[in-house]
Amino acid sequence: SILLSVGFLATSLASYYVSKSAIRTGIVENELPITADNVYSEIQKDLIPPVLVSSMMATDTFLRDWVIRGERDVREITRYLATIQKRFNAVTSFFVSDRSRIYYHADGILKEVSEAAWRDAWYFRVRDMDKPYEINVDIDLANEDAMTIFINYRVYDYDGRFIGATGVGLTVEAVRRMVNTYQGRYQRRIFFMDRNGRVVLRADHEQGAETDIRKFEGLSDIADRILQERSGSYIYESGGDTRLLNVRFIDELNWYLCVEKKETDAIAGIRKILILNLLICAAITAVILFASSLIINRFQTRVEAMATTDKLTGLYNRQAFDILISRLLIEQKRKPEPLSAVLFDIDDFKGVNDTYGHLAGDGVLSEIARVARARLRGADILCRWGGEEFLAILPGCVLADAARLAEEIRAAVAAWTFAADGRPIRLTVSTGAAEFRPGETIDQFLGRADEALYASKNTGKNRTSALA
Ligand code: GH3
Ligand code: MG
Ligand code: MG
Repeated sequence: SILLSVGFLATSLASYYVSKSAIRTGIVENELPITADNVYSEIQKDLIPPVLVSSMMATDTFLRDWVIRGERDVREITRYLATIQKRFNAVTSFFVSDRSRIYYHADGILKEVSEAAWRDAWYFRVRDMDKPYEINVDIDLANEDAMTIFINYRVYDYDGRFIGATGVGLTVEAVRRMVNTYQGRYQRRIFFMDRNGRVVLRADHEQGAETDIRKFEGLSDIADRILQERSGSYIYESGGDTRLLNVRFIDELNWYLCVEKKETDAIAGIRKILILNLLICAAITAVILFASSLIINRFQTRVEAMATTDKLTGLYNRQAFDILISRLLIEQKRKPEPLSAVLFDIDDFKGVNDTYGHLAGDGVLSEIARVARARLRGADILCRWGGEEFLAILPGCVLADAARLAEEIRAAVAAWTFAADGRPIRLTVSTGAAEFRPGETIDQFLGRADEALYASKNTGKNRTSALA
């Protein structure tokens, strides 16, 4: 059963760990990067139209002429921006003039941008940058500070001089919707964080939770590494779950896209299979153990019986006797009690064999065993001592009791008519009785019984002798 258990356990655990590592590899190398790719391409797809619209605005002759002419009629620019915003379904459209610093949007003049205001820092960044445009995620003053993706395009006059910045803004709603979908449908957590490790966009049901990833459970230790590496796969423990995290930096948004999955959820299935496997193994081991113990016990009993009984007479053999007598003597030492032995031997048994044959002799031997056994109590031990010699051990009997019993056996045999090869014959036994003396050895004890038996043989057989 140890072999079975170890074998089953080893194969079950091995296949569990192999599957687990395959699942982990699948998540880290395929699932999470593919999700990140999908989200990224979705974002790019959403970004292309507004970038085109903004580029068109930046080269629009009306806009440039209106600025070059001195930004006279605010209604004109307002109408223009409102048309663009409506036509392309943007959340905002704007123009900031470099000469007047005025921020125009679809509803009119919003404000004047100032180098001192942190909210206007974007404009001065755009003014000084080399690229034709930037994508900037920011809050929109014109829209109650909603999180907005701005396309900020540089505008030039016909001589290539910078005259302002224009563009449209779109909400992050589409991205947010996608984040929610992935989270709900595929059990993947998606969030975006900025360069400082602050979560800027996440699923709706997570709104209001901690935004600094340095304070996320399990992530605090690796947060700096994640921000530094820009893209990579990470494993961390949080809330008793192993989480697999894929991070990639999105240049267009200046954000990190983070896709995460709980490994614990993914391996719940194979964990169930492992437990089932182990249960089946335990059941099989138990059944095999039970069956083999049943079989072994049966054989054990048979082998034991074969080893301790004399086949011909059904009595104990000498081997069994050795065990029984040593037990008796130990018992005797603990609680001294009289103990006696009667040894008896068939008289002139050779003649039976010679006259009726060996098989008839065997029959007579087992019949004598029966006759003798019938005289004894349950606690007495009767064994076949030698060929046609028997020994009875009588616990609780003093010498006189033993001698009386020996005499009973002798008389019973003498009175018995045996059948030898179908013919009636009469037999006698000579007996010898002895009582155990505390402290003596088994050999000394039985030696005296033997002496007594010889005394009976030597004084004419068919008699009983006793030696104290
Ligand atoms: P005594 O009165 O002196 O005991 O004479 P005996 O002939 O009985 O004694 P002896 O020891 O000379 O002979 C014993 C005989 O018992 C010899 C042997 O062939 C026979 N014998 C011993 N074991 C068996 C047995 O298992 N089956 C049969 N049929 N005969 C056996
Ligand atoms: Mg004999
Ligand atoms: Mg003999």
